[in-house]
Amino acid sequence: MASKRQIHVGGVPIGGGAPVVVQTMTKTETANLQATMTQIRKVAEAGADLVRVAVPRDEDVEALRTIVRESPIPVIADIHFNHTLALKAIDAGAHCVRLNPGNIGGPEKVAEVAERAAAAGTPMRIGVNSGSLPRHLHALERENPVEALVTAATEFVALMERLRFEDFKVSIKSTNVPNTIAANRLLSERIEYPLHLGITEAGTRWSGSLKSAVGLGTLLADGVGDTIRISLSTFHAEEEVKVAWEILKALQLRERGPVLIACPTCGRLQFDMDTVVTDIERRLEAYEDPIEVAVLGCAVNGIGEASHADFGITGARNEGLIFSRGKPLRKVPQDQLVDALFAEIDKYATSKRIDVDAREAAVGAEWLARIEEENAGELTPERLAAMEADAADDEAADARLVSAIAPEPVRLDEAASPVQGRRFSRT
Ligand code: SF4
Repeated sequence: MASKRQIHVGGVPIGGGAPVVVQTMTKTETANLQATMTQIRKVAEAGADLVRVAVPRDEDVEALRTIVRESPIPVIADIHFNHTLALKAIDAGAHCVRLNPGNIGGPEKVAEVAERAAAAGTPMRIGVNSGSLPRHLHALERENPVEALVTAATEFVALMERLRFEDFKVSIKSTNVPNTIAANRLLSERIEYPLHLGITEAGTRWSGSLKSAVGLGTLLADGVGDTIRISLSTFHAEEEVKVAWEILKALQLRERGPVLIACPTCGRLQFDMDTVVTDIERRLEAYEDPIEVAVLGCAVNGIGEASHADFGITGARNEGLIFSRGKPLRKVPQDQLVDALFAEIDKYATSKRIDVDAREAAVGAEWLARIEEENAGELTPERLAAMEADAADDEAADARLVSAIAPEPVRLDEAASPVQGRRFSRT
């Protein structure tokens, strides 16, 4: 369940019902001011609400004062093992300090940091990692790793409360996705503090994004988690931010920029979707409106599947259609589809209105109706899915589905499309 308490990191609310906060971590040597500030500006532009920097040495904490002053977003200092650096980071104006109470040198050192943080009004993130649990929990860890993680976290929470410091969020992280899910679910029932979610050392851009989407997405869908970081093995921290946003957008927890939907393609494909979708996705990054843009590989199904999209394209033969919210806008030659789509999106970005030219729309509608009619018998994935849905609660529809998918003779259609090369159709 969502955390009851709320903290503020440099003015960004976390927990207590605030929108889920996106954060990332720079991959530069923090003391390299130029490289660090360049990366911070990039991640801020990509949509990071907060950024964390590693502070392992004195020269990093010295750079921190400038970073805090120049950063467009609040800065969290990441400290391990050395409580003196934590004290200095607070003095340097860090908006938050992240530390693991288990590796900072004992409760007295934690107390010293908590006292300084309280005086400065600096919140903390207290983190527990599966790889560094306190010694007395090692036996429990072998027996029940989830309970061991949660116990470590609640012991640290109890320590902070004894120190009368309650301005913190908590993270428990593991490389193991099921354990991360189970531990955070359990922890959210036991404490009221905001939770930071992440999968430790998730992996490459591809595998790490998937693991994070599964782990964090499951928790966020349950309402667990107040801030997230996607840990990817890439030097480009902005990639982590983009993945975080895609997870939040997919769950409709936050909006940022356009959402692209695209059909999976099949043998009816009428244009080079790979290139077109990649191109559209890249160009959409420049837009701020949270519009939905659909790309359908063919017009065989009409545009029903994407009727909710603000803008979309589909094609057939050498032509294509720009549509909007279920209605044709205009027909264009297929090689102009993408540019024509962006011309409409540009108009919308300026006027916040969808312009419809009645004559162009009528031509598009006529073209679409013809394509639909010509392909009325095609069993597309979308039509099969719709029939399956019908069949689930309608016996008559079930019988129609069975007869529709029964084997029938096929012939090679001579009028195959140039993209498909050939097409089989029912006789
Ligand atoms: S039938 Fe559906 S999946 Fe296949 S290309 Fe057309 S829109 Fe895409």
